[in-house]
Amino acid sequence: MTKFVFVTGGVVSSLGKGIASASLAAILESRGLKVTLIKLDPYLNVDPGTMSPFQHGEVFVTDDGAETDLDLGHYERFITTRMRKTNNFTTGQIYKSVLEKERRGDYLGKTVQVIPHVTNEIQEYVKRGASADVDVAIVEIGGTVGDIESLPFLEAVRQMSLKLGPNQTAFVHLTYVPWIAAAGELKTKPTQHTVQKLREIGIQPDALLCRADRRVPDEEREKISLFTNVPEWGVISMWDVDTIYKVPRMLHEQGLDGLVCDKLRLATPPANLKRWDELVQEVEHPQATVRLAMVGKYTDLSDSYKSLNEALRHAGIHNHARVGIEYVDSETITPDNVGQLGAFDAILVPGGFGKRGIEGKVCAARFAREKKIPYLGICLGMQVATIEYARHKAGLEGANSTEFEPATPHPVIALIDEWQDADGSIQKRNAQSDLGGTMRLGAQSSDVKPGTLAHQIYGAVVTERHRHRYEANEHYLDRLQQAGLVISAITQREKLTEIVELPQGVHPWYVGVQFHPEFKSTPWAGHPLFISYVKAALAHQAARSDQPSIKAVA
Ligand code: GLN
Repeated sequence: MTKFVFVTGGVVSSLGKGIASASLAAILESRGLKVTLIKLDPYLNVDPGTMSPFQHGEVFVTDDGAETDLDLGHYERFITTRMRKTNNFTTGQIYKSVLEKERRGDYLGKTVQVIPHVTNEIQEYVKRGASADVDVAIVEIGGTVGDIESLPFLEAVRQMSLKLGPNQTAFVHLTYVPWIAAAGELKTKPTQHTVQKLREIGIQPDALLCRADRRVPDEEREKISLFTNVPEWGVISMWDVDTIYKVPRMLHEQGLDGLVCDKLRLATPPANLKRWDELVQEVEHPQATVRLAMVGKYTDLSDSYKSLNEALRHAGIHNHARVGIEYVDSETITPDNVGQLGAFDAILVPGGFGKRGIEGKVCAARFAREKKIPYLGICLGMQVATIEYARHKAGLEGANSTEFEPATPHPVIALIDEWQDADGSIQKRNAQSDLGGTMRLGAQSSDVKPGTLAHQIYGAVVTERHRHRYEANEHYLDRLQQAGLVISAITQREKLTEIVELPQGVHPWYVGVQFHPEFKSTPWAGHPLFISYVKAALAHQAARSDQPSIKAVA
């Protein structure tokens, strides 16, 4: 039977509950257990798909096409279990489901209430998220203890632990221990209070993860133990580190996994964190540094490109290089100042929605093409590269995406909502889906054209995750190809362009992909597309340093 570890948070948000949960999962996995993670989000949106990246950070997409919280990205990067739709749910989803049941008459005339109907529904969703073959499901509860909105979640998991019994569940609470510079002291009071709050609800934590900018000394740990009724070995210090890959070892050395396995009566081999140690070793000893310009819109908030940043870092690790990412606001880029991008080893245009900053991105794509700087365009970045090529190489003046200019004379990127199958029947995209209307979501495969750069990278078939509405317009593909753009992957049935590139004789590395490869990168394997891209950036750097005049500018 699956056992559950519930991870709650106290005092403030943004302490790294996702990383803490994923790290515990990774250590348990290294003890031979099959582990999964589930994230509960206490807001009323049904999923984060409709939320602005400024509000919520990145929307992580799973293979089965769910738009989820970015913590699921950490989960997939830390453990081997793949996340699915059922690994993340929100208060909105719970209420939607309860209200649908109420309308159907499933509650047989009863008054529908938060307790028990909403809390029962939450328990059902938690159990559903933990598939039957999993030994331990780590359930991360979003929000902070004391918030009105997360109360039903806490009540639900309290009930769950009561029903399942003491050795089936464990509670881990993440708290904050601030350093007060004026007093020169770490303060334990907020931790005392947040645990009081938790105990009021009926939850006694088995372990506390004390986030602080430094190691919490034994004296403070003893004090916390006394005030919170958590044994001293369960008061674990979690200090700031320069790389998140250090967290599993940090928690293991203080016995977190041992404590959880004891509580859950799990007899396993000891943890083996060798791969994490090797990873940290690699991160700390790069042999080179590359500098990338990321020309995007949400440049103020690195959380918007979480998986992308991680994928680039992984690619660095696999090239023994540190990847420095500089965010360049695309709204500030014009033909007059685009030359500043010449100082970088590679240019990247990430995904995005809406018109703002598009012309700056077109400028950047053109500059990368003409100056032979490695270019990777992801989703919107691929669309921008296509628009740029259409305008400046295929003679399609004013070419654009109908997303940015509905009346464009050349809609090289447009909404493709239906297509004709070989038998002549008209197929509609996402006809039966209620997920984001016509959004193309989740993993899809297509063949890759032999002889292309994409084929060198991916081999015969590419399977990647999507999250977009607009597509390269099939009617312009011949024209673009005649002008020299290579369409290196296209879906068989719908004829949707997946990858565009420039021939290698023309440009050393210029690739646009309609999907989001960043969602599938892990520190262990990296990702072939990003590894190849960073390699090209290193090669460009080496070639540049052979040219003294350019070196002086850089
Ligand atoms: N806005 C574009 C579309 O909807 C690109 C989306 C993206 O980059 N994820 O197709």
